[in-house]
Amino acid sequence: MTVYNFPYQDAGFVIDELIDFDLMCKEAGLEEINSELVSAILDEAGKLGTEVIAPLNSIGDQQGATLGEDGVQETPGFAAAYRQFVDSGWPSLNASEAYGGQGMPKLLGAAVAEVWQSSSLAFSLCPLLSGGAIEAITAHGSDELKDTYLPKLVRGEWTATMKLTESAAGSDLAALASRAVPEGDHYLLSGQKIFITWGDHQMTENIIHLVLARLPDAPTGVKGISLFLVPKFLLDENGQPDKRNDVFCVSLEHKLGIHASPTCVMNFGDNGAAVGYLVGEPHDGLAAMFTMMNDARQGTGMQGLSLSERSYQQALEYAKERLQGSHSDGTRFPIIEFPDVRRMLMLMKAATEAMRGLAYISAAEIDRSHWAKDPQAVQKHAARTGLYTPIVKGWITELAQEITSLGIQIHGGMGYVEETGSAQHFRDVRITTIYEGTTGIQGLDLVGRKILANNGEVLLDLLDDIQATAEAMSDIGELASQARALKNAVDSGKQARAWLLEHAGQNRNVAGGVSVNFMMLLGYICGGWVMGQSALKAARLLERGPGNESFLRAKLVTAQFYTDHLLPRAGSCLATVMAGADSIMALDVEQF
Ligand SMILES: Cc1cc2nc3c(=O)[nH]c(=O)nc-3n(C[C@H](O)[C@H](O)[C@H](O)COP(=O)(O)OP(=O)(O)OC[C@H]3O[C@@H](n4cnc5c(N)ncnc54)[C@H](O)[C@@H]3O)c2cc1C
Repeated sequence: MTVYNFPYQDAGFVIDELIDFDLMCKEAGLEEINSELVSAILDEAGKLGTEVIAPLNSIGDQQGATLGEDGVQETPGFAAAYRQFVDSGWPSLNASEAYGGQGMPKLLGAAVAEVWQSSSLAFSLCPLLSGGAIEAITAHGSDELKDTYLPKLVRGEWTATMKLTESAAGSDLAALASRAVPEGDHYLLSGQKIFITWGDHQMTENIIHLVLARLPDAPTGVKGISLFLVPKFLLDENGQPDKRNDVFCVSLEHKLGIHASPTCVMNFGDNGAAVGYLVGEPHDGLAAMFTMMNDARQGTGMQGLSLSERSYQQALEYAKERLQGSHSDGTRFPIIEFPDVRRMLMLMKAATEAMRGLAYISAAEIDRSHWAKDPQAVQKHAARTGLYTPIVKGWITELAQEITSLGIQIHGGMGYVEETGSAQHFRDVRITTIYEGTTGIQGLDLVGRKILANNGEVLLDLLDDIQATAEAMSDIGELASQARALKNAVDSGKQARAWLLEHAGQNRNVAGGVSVNFMMLLGYICGGWVMGQSALKAARLLERGPGNESFLRAKLVTAQFYTDHLLPRAGSCLATVMAGADSIMALDVEQF
């Protein structure tokens, strides 16, 4: 089985050269955080990922979580790995210092998350959800809730879940039916939630569920949803887990991938009393949950990147070893010599590097929005983060389907059989376009809330930045053709924007019909921007003199490949956007 290694060089290049993290931290007055610290932290994470978590990935695939008398039993080896993870302080990385966290930037959290997710997506989901819950409680919980629950969650002594989905309420949370009735200083919850990730396990002595439910006087629709904190074990007067709360996993889903991540059907209040505490204001739960969901959406985009990287590493190793061609003297050569295998490897490499650049840039934008002092700058960075989020989630996870499929293709038949592990990445990544809002929902979010709601101004600002990169590239002779292609892509983005602003109001199917292609269009353009900036930096660094020549020259070639093979897809996305929704909606339902 291939060993996984975190791609330090590429990650470092994005952090140092594309983002200029040191300057960013200096400007924010955070001199103690710099790229040296980042590289030391990534080094430590990489060791834990490669040595402890990655070897559990295929074990988890074969021996998924099980449900027994005492609840869910996680895959053997996971509890010990989780203990090591906690003992090394990883759960506290991004959390607020007020509750024992390290307060590290989001960008660093994203890079570290890539390690965990490439190592084992199933494992990584548990701390990912806890991180989102910590954010939601920090932002919306009362002081009492924060003081009681955050320190243990931040230390990783307890984990957390996110409970939205019900059988009749998936994408449409307005249909949510779980109930919460006030009783003294708390509420009694009843109902059933499905598909709950890491809803139960034995790795920690308590699990904190964040649950959406309706109060008795709640208005209908999403405006009547409140958020509750429901612990698996109620706490005694010393804050220690004591009496079992009435929230139980009643069954586990059998699924395509991430077998080691238990996907639970959870019942509340079957025995009369699932005690919960209100987080934030009554009927304002969705807004509170969105704190967690935006975080989780960017995190899900990272998952697409992480599995693409793991799949690429494995395919590359196989392509170097698998002998299929013969020279005229009869000696055999490996499949990496074949142009078509090269094409597939280059697609994997170029797409993965573009994904990494965009995902990290987007995480850094969150930091910028937190660190900016001028309210206008805060607003600008927050708006840009909002625009990036559905692209990171939607485009990266959709592209990751193709990339992990190529990982199988490069293995030939050995990719389709389970032995090599390549198929697991393809199966595992399949969920990423579904949970945390399907691709369809990301497209609607992008087109509706992030573009039409501000008359496309935030998008125009992004396209102007991309145009500026293309212009800077034009000054370097060897990048001139790439610069032209990037400018054309920006024009495609501008045409699509103008078309949308003109046509979206015509009928309600237009925005819904074109939204996913719009999102993919912006994804390919943003990827082109990342690779364009990379080429620009690489060319300038090479001009400056000796350094990491092999890596920088490879970057130039990879950027050219992206321009030749992936950026042209922006043109076809534009054509599908401008075709509108007529042929999409023309058939009667009976005609299908
Ligand atoms: C392994 C796994 C883990 C999960 N973990 C969690 C978890 O921890 N917590 C949690 O709360 N939930 C979790 N979920 C649930 C997940 O978030 C939902 O499955 C997802 O939001 C989609 O909802 P649904 O399955 O009901 O699909 P539906 O909403 O029924 O969607 C079906 C199809 O219709 C499309 N569609 C629906 N509405 C619209 C619309 N308005 N516009 C355009 N297209 C639309 C969708 O894009 C999709 O293609 C998990 C699911 C799985 C499978």
